[in-house]
Amino acid sequence: MDFSDNSSLFASLRAHMVDAQLRARGVKDERVLDAMARVPRHEFAPERYRHQAYDDHPLPIGEGQTISQPYIVALMLEALALSPADRVLEVGTGSGYLTALLAELVARVFSVERHAALAGAARDLLVRLGYTNVKVIVGDGTQGFAEAAPYDAIIVSAAAAEVPVALLAQLAEGGRMILPVGTADSQQLQLIRIEGGQPRIALRELCRFVPLVSDTHQGRVQ
Ligand code: SAH
Repeated sequence: MDFSDNSSLFASLRAHMVDAQLRARGVKDERVLDAMARVPRHEFAPERYRHQAYDDHPLPIGEGQTISQPYIVALMLEALALSPADRVLEVGTGSGYLTALLAELVARVFSVERHAALAGAARDLLVRLGYTNVKVIVGDGTQGFAEAAPYDAIIVSAAAAEVPVALLAQLAEGGRMILPVGTADSQQLQLIRIEGGQPRIALRELCRFVPLVSDTHQGRVQ
């Protein structure tokens, strides 16, 4: 089947994804559900995986990386309780899919990716899709992006052995961060909220992400 220019087919697959994979599993945040019904996930998938773009699993995007499963993306976005005025830091741009969702949900998005080729492709695609409130930065996301800190929320799409301290330091009071923490085989999402200057940690779902690879000695995570 030729999926190359079939936006109405993709729109109906996307609507089904929202109902069957997200609402049915308890995702309730209507802004998150709306954003996921709008953002064309197939545009972020490599050509040969495009027909699977709305299936219930992650997709390979090259460089050994993946676009996360739609459900885990929705779960993380809902947990962050985002407001339209928020400024958000993303670590691990990858394809730019989650970046696009963030751009729909908040005022300003800063996204750090260590692979220059992935960052460049994501930046081009986000421009082509008309997102103007996003900045993609090539660098080591374990160090965050201090120039634009503090952030109302931080979302990390790769698993660290420990919570990177630089990221905690770049959260505003009341700010939230969600990230997978653990080893290659055993990871859990942690939702951290800064209250009275202190991080409060809530352990959430078990998950499986690619590793967060630190290129800098300071704040090394693995
Ligand atoms: N949210 C992405 C998922 C990408 S997979 C999407 O929707 O497509 C995780 C990404 O994290 C990969 O692209 C990987 O290169 C990147 N990554 C891993 N360690 C990193 C680090 N220290 N800094 C920035 N990006 C990192």
